[in-house]
Amino acid sequence: MSLRQYIERRVTKQIISVMPVDSAARKEAPLIDRLIGRLIAAPNRTETLFGEGEIFLIKAALYLVGARLEESAFEGVGTQWKEQTGVYQFDFNHGQHEKALPAELALPHGFHVPVNVNPVAPFSLERDNGVLYLKAGGMRLFPVEYEPRPQFYGLHTSDGTPMRFLAQHRLGDELMVTYNTYCHTLKHGGQCRFCALNAGSPIIPKKNGMFIQTPEQIAEVASAAYKEGAVKRLEITGGILPRRAEVDFIIDVGHAVCKALGTKTIPGGHCLLAAPNDLSQIEKLKEAGWEYIFFNLEVWNEHLFRGICPGKEEIVGREHWLKALDRAVEVFGPGNVVSILIAGLEPLDSYLEGMEYLSARGIYADPAPWFPMPGSPMEGHSSPTVSWHLNLIVKTLDHWENIGWDLNEAAEDGWLAFNDLARMRLKIRQYAKAHPELDITKDIRYKLAVEGKIDF
Ligand code: SF4
Repeated sequence: MSLRQYIERRVTKQIISVMPVDSAARKEAPLIDRLIGRLIAAPNRTETLFGEGEIFLIKAALYLVGARLEESAFEGVGTQWKEQTGVYQFDFNHGQHEKALPAELALPHGFHVPVNVNPVAPFSLERDNGVLYLKAGGMRLFPVEYEPRPQFYGLHTSDGTPMRFLAQHRLGDELMVTYNTYCHTLKHGGQCRFCALNAGSPIIPKKNGMFIQTPEQIAEVASAAYKEGAVKRLEITGGILPRRAEVDFIIDVGHAVCKALGTKTIPGGHCLLAAPNDLSQIEKLKEAGWEYIFFNLEVWNEHLFRGICPGKEEIVGREHWLKALDRAVEVFGPGNVVSILIAGLEPLDSYLEGMEYLSARGIYADPAPWFPMPGSPMEGHSSPTVSWHLNLIVKTLDHWENIGWDLNEAAEDGWLAFNDLARMRLKIRQYAKAHPELDITKDIRYKLAVEGKIDF
């Protein structure tokens, strides 16, 4: 057995063992693992010792169970390294820590993961002589690094508001605007059971009625972020508001950003909102410069939809939602409409039925694995196993390829698990072509990205 195989086996075994929250791997690593850690964690060795499959597994485990931060791991966060700035519905750590926390971790082979801080996690981060290391159960795995802080995080708008509290940089090249932390489903039908938006509050006081920002403030931040080259996409999201005020707001933001950028559309501009009750607003959203649009059903099964998203059912209704999605395809074009289905809230067959229904109409149903958010009504619940999620994503990729959709788009699109697996699938095919002598089915990347298996 080669050194690499030996290490891969030990690491793979250890990573899988830490995925369940109660794993015994929380205990300190035995001496042999500490010695291996020293050997393998030297800079420059990582990518020859750890393949993409192992790093993907480590990423999944980090996402699910988080990491402890040693004191040294806070060095430079908020100055050199980008800090978390409280986008609550996507933030595992909101309000739980006094210090500025790092936002995202860059792993070898181009993988990235948001930093989920967990003081009892088997993983930990520590900095030694300026190098940040990831450790598992006390064993050093390899050097990692946080995402650099974009320059606009240190700037203020013309009215003196720190830009980083108005919009956040994430996923490598996206500017994300959350226009409020309130959703009217709270008073009409009930908030979505998985959603934590209503449990948060903006870091800065609201200056614009129901909205945290004005369209002009957002345009100023967007202008700075695009000019710096820090972003290639802009996302806007938030809750349903009384009298559906958010739809007109998103239209106004689109116009303001286009004016500031001097463009007819916002490069990579997309909005996430509940399907408008007034379908004519879909054209107005397009005219305002948004390039693509999300009306997230979240759950396909109609009975579960009513149970898990009761407010969406009461304010909009599932039937109207489906009509709005069809209308959006007419306006924005096939492939430019998305309806996220959250993976883990309904059985696999019903999820796949929804994904097939939507894709037949030119709508992407991006698989977003459910993470039970602190502050959501389902806090404390458990998402299905890693194997379940992997199987679902691989089946989704199979389906997209079967209907002729180009996986390159999913591969290039971002840092989510389905993006990673699409990239891995394309790469393993190229690798298999270049090495016809190898039994590719034994490669961990093949098992993960093509077979959807984790039991190797
Ligand atoms: S509609 Fe549902 S998912 Fe959207 S913000 Fe409101 S509660 Fe959250």
